[in-house]
Amino acid sequence: MKKIFCTLLAYVFCLGVTSAQDFNTYFTDRTLRINYLHIGNGTEESLEIDHYTAGGIWSGTRAYLIEPNNYGDLTLEVFDSLSNKLIYSRSYSNLFIEYRTTERGKTEIDSMEECVNMPFPKNTVRLKFTSFDRNRKPTTLSISYFNPKTTECTPVVKYYKTLNLHVGNKPSKAIDILFIPDGYAQSDKKLLKYDMKRFASYVMNCSPYKEMKKKVNIRAIMGFSEESGITQPQNNIYRNTLLNCTYNALDLDRYLMCPGVWNLHEVADDAPYDAIVIICNSEKYGGGGIYNFYCTVYNHGEYPDYVIVHEMGHLIGGLADEYYTSEVSVQDFYPEGVEPVEPNVTTLVDFKSKWQDMLPAGTPVPTPPAKKSSPEYDQLGVFEGGGYAAKGVYRPAMHCTMHQIRYDDFCPVCKKTLEDVLEYYSK
Ligand SMILES: [Zn+2]
Repeated sequence: MKKIFCTLLAYVFCLGVTSAQDFNTYFTDRTLRINYLHIGNGTEESLEIDHYTAGGIWSGTRAYLIEPNNYGDLTLEVFDSLSNKLIYSRSYSNLFIEYRTTERGKTEIDSMEECVNMPFPKNTVRLKFTSFDRNRKPTTLSISYFNPKTTECTPVVKYYKTLNLHVGNKPSKAIDILFIPDGYAQSDKKLLKYDMKRFASYVMNCSPYKEMKKKVNIRAIMGFSEESGITQPQNNIYRNTLLNCTYNALDLDRYLMCPGVWNLHEVADDAPYDAIVIICNSEKYGGGGIYNFYCTVYNHGEYPDYVIVHEMGHLIGGLADEYYTSEVSVQDFYPEGVEPVEPNVTTLVDFKSKWQDMLPAGTPVPTPPAKKSSPEYDQLGVFEGGGYAAKGVYRPAMHCTMHQIRYDDFCPVCKKTLEDVLEYYSK
């Protein structure tokens, strides 16, 4: 918590746009959504804004309008066009950045839907999108203007009922997590309700959510699909569903994603939301989670409790996978000589910016692996192997929900990161 608030404090002094008063100067209490296409391959990329949506109420924080960290691969910066003052920023990631590192993505051009929310501006603003490659080299992708009086916006249309699963506070004082079901037909109505409650209890019984209940809201959209089940292209199974989620994203069998991101947010508009969790009606193991973008989980099988909190670790905490033995599509995800942005992995290039201040005195860096039976197994360290690489990338613990299939077992670094996020949304 210390680190995030020091950073926030720096913004207070540098920029001055971090109070509810500033919010009221520049923004209304509605949401503006920018819907665009991210186009390119491993060597080139571009961004084309397609349309704007005047969304529902603004559920994000009004106290800290400038992003306190840059865990994401993309940043939206919003400037007041008259004063040129930075009045809002958002850091987030996307599927496109992962696609670029796959074998196919290195050469083949693809186009992916993305969108980002911001509070609805009162006056004309300049929108600047910047992407960061794996070496953290920035590229300006787009600069455009939005005039609230003349720029055309698609209005929000309400379609679905919302189910309150846990309400800890009003939307502006808590993180608003929104569950959206996919692959539940009308005949699955009972299952849908049961699953939404079940998944909410998985989240609320896991640390740090269970200790910070008043800073968390969970709601569900009661949206039904034409057909029951989820598309599995590799098994020739195709389903007509509310969100058209599909396995085999980026040619990885268990990677379950939602290509129709614009439609996803239209469905989400029926409730306040800061984070979207898609619950898929499927028996096949799978999921996926991208920082400040969305995450998916499946509803059957042995591990859905673990999968939802793991994927939400990616989604809201910007946490990296700490494992390094499973099959993944991405290659050389953490380049040598570059400190990763994710808070729970390090290449030791800039370990000071990570969990160095949390290490017990005398801990060797790197830390030798500890046996399950030894007391060191539960201690914080700097263990080699993490972020899909057995060598050169280090993780904070021998066991963590971001590493193994272990429910309610975030390591101290991951837990602290999630606590900071819940604090941020509750201010
Ligand atoms: Zn961890």
